[in-house]
Amino acid sequence: MKKVSLIVPCYNEERNLDALYAKLRPLLDNSLDSRKYEWEVIMIDDGSRDSTLSLMESLRQKDERINVLSLSRNFGKECAMLAGFDYASGDCAVILDADLQDPVEVVPELLKKWEEGYKDVYGNRMARGNEPWIRKQFTLVYYRILSGVSSGEVLRNVGDFRLLDRCCIDEIRALRETQRYTKGLYSWIGFSKAEVCYDRSDRNAGKSSFSYRRLVNLAIEGITSHTTSPLRFASVMGIAVALASLAFLIYVLVKTLFYGDPVAGYPTLICVILFLGGIQLLSLGIIGEYIGRIFLETKGRPPYIVASINGCRHHERPCKDG
Ligand code: UDP
Ligand code: MG
Repeated sequence: MKKVSLIVPCYNEERNLDALYAKLRPLLDNSLDSRKYEWEVIMIDDGSRDSTLSLMESLRQKDERINVLSLSRNFGKECAMLAGFDYASGDCAVILDADLQDPVEVVPELLKKWEEGYKDVYGNRMARGNEPWIRKQFTLVYYRILSGVSSGEVLRNVGDFRLLDRCCIDEIRALRETQRYTKGLYSWIGFSKAEVCYDRSDRNAGKSSFSYRRLVNLAIEGITSHTTSPLRFASVMGIAVALASLAFLIYVLVKTLFYGDPVAGYPTLICVILFLGGIQLLSLGIIGEYIGRIFLETKGRPPYIVASINGCRHHERPCKDG
């Protein structure tokens, strides 16, 4: 029987876990689908500050198919997902949000496509739930910029809700960068992809942990980890400004030669200084973003640290029951 891993990254999700388990039960009991699978759920506690971890552990007491991986602090969803990939033992894995925004009922459809031979079956959000208007617009503009600057295809309206075949999981696991933008990695690794449309519902309880600050960080991460186009942009800007300055220089020289030099042009001078200063700072900032990432990657730190697995301290593995 084929084994399916469900990877569920959780950060402060105490109010959603019971509802999630209730939703998962029919799936785990193979009553949603005519095909039968062996199931494993990997719940990753990404350093939650509430009782998420103890709730997970009590769920495991009830159901052995649930595995609980606890990270030593909050490493962010991207790294929590990597932890899930590392510990998943299934022939394929489905990534699910703990807040029930990704419909469990759609998982059989993902599996159907997988059985047809697709390696990476992603959910395409038809409706985005009750997201604030401004966040929707922000996302739209962002994807437009991202697909404009990057060579690889980045799919709009596609989140982390997807099924990955074992071969994709192994490839993603091989990419150990700590500054992760998993959405870019899915398209980078390639493999045959298929789409399943679904309506994203609202968060069951609690509020999104992606504040605007975190979203902006993720957005910058997405661009800098996916493409070096901003560096190219800085170079092209530099060349364009240099050419424009040369033209202006010739104009000023010619003007001075033919019409003398009454000391004027203060506004021009200020404009030029401010414009050039702005461009230089922008370019420095762009270079800085990349250097910062080089700095972080050269440290070679692990993307996440596991505190416990199913209630046992990490180095006490292997351990079957908590
Ligand atoms: N999450 C996580 N670590 C974090 C932030 C979020 O594991 O640092 C999990 C969270 O528990 C949820 C999923 O990632 O299962 C999506 O998070 P959220 O619902 O806050 O984001 P949104 O749906 O608003 O994009
Ligand atoms: Mg959510």
